[in-house]
Amino acid sequence: MLVTKLTKLLGIRVPVVQGGMQWVGFPPLVAAVSNAGGLGILTALSQPSPEALRQAIRETRKLTDKNFGVNITLLPTINPPDYEGYARAAVEEGVRVFETAGNNPGPLIKFFKSNGCIVIHKCTTIRHAKSASRMGVDVLSIDGFECAGHPGEEDIPGFILLARAAQELQIPYIASGGIADGRGLAAALALGAAGVNMGTRFMCTVERWVYEFGSPLQYKNAHQCYLSTIHQNIKDKIIASTEQDTIHIFRTLRNTARVFKNKVAEEVVAIERRPGGAKFEDIRHLVSGARGKQVYELGDPDAGIWTASGVVGLIKDSPTCEVLLRRIEREAEEVIDGLKALKVDEPLKAKL
Ligand code: NAD
Repeated sequence: MLVTKLTKLLGIRVPVVQGGMQWVGFPPLVAAVSNAGGLGILTALSQPSPEALRQAIRETRKLTDKNFGVNITLLPTINPPDYEGYARAAVEEGVRVFETAGNNPGPLIKFFKSNGCIVIHKCTTIRHAKSASRMGVDVLSIDGFECAGHPGEEDIPGFILLARAAQELQIPYIASGGIADGRGLAAALALGAAGVNMGTRFMCTVERWVYEFGSPLQYKNAHQCYLSTIHQNIKDKIIASTEQDTIHIFRTLRNTARVFKNKVAEEVVAIERRPGGAKFEDIRHLVSGARGKQVYELGDPDAGIWTASGVVGLIKDSPTCEVLLRRIEREAEEVIDGLKALKVDEPLKAKL
């Protein structure tokens, strides 16, 4: 077992957090990750309202008796969400772990801390990490440029950010972006992290619930059966992809996002590169989240924009979260043992 500051703080078995993922972080996945020994996180903004988030929290509780968290991300949106309402609903429902991310998280962090919650704050620079640390967050999620979604505008690779975190940070941090296996976890621990955050890897898992009515994105009457909240076609697409299959959109709008390189994303980038550039209004019809959600519902990888990191090149299967986390744990332990063995090769040392 890998016991770290993260496993001790959160009371989890494996130092792996399933980070917020818009249109993916729904109760079945969240519960499956927590049941498998990691920390599952519900994505608040994937719910249409704070009241719907309450229902999703209750739904998750029916599927797991383990700890899980809620993500609230503060980034530009087409329809401004009621962030405070989501935060209040989750706290009132008894959630005690939050993942925050994005711009100006101060008031949210203050609210969660004043309610005795644990806050994991995701950041893409050491400057932001230190500032969040001063605000009282418990854990920093250090998000390298490899990550899916929004890597910020300073393009700092994860290896450098984590090594800088080891130099500068006084509170525990986890590695986020570019991790999908036990080697990644071992590397993160070597870089001083107390665990990892994974998103894209969890898109390719199967859970033990399927829903009787409507689309798999609506939760009704759970049954024992292997399925998950995103369409099988998308998982197949991820498995067939390489590390070259992501692209950055919104670079020119300073809201950079790494997404799967499909026809829609390439069209967005082409519009952004036009002489004179682009305004958000020029690409809004292509990038809206409502459109991206259809990718997962319909199983059409070209239906809209969908977030993914370069780890699509590392993903070769779609196991249960239980199998995935056990494998990651075992691989990490093997890597760590292998590194220890390097040190004790005395005959070789003598020859050199
Ligand atoms: P949306 O439909 O409101 O917007 C779609 C995309 O356009 C998002 O990436 C958004 O950041 C961007 N955008 C919106 N208005 C913009 C503007 N004026 N200028 C530049 N970019 C703009 O988004 P959604 O799919 O409903 O998601 C809601 C929010 O959650 C967004 O802010 C999104 O970035 C964020 N998000 C969160 C996660 C997570 O892990 N929690 C993952 C992906 C996206």
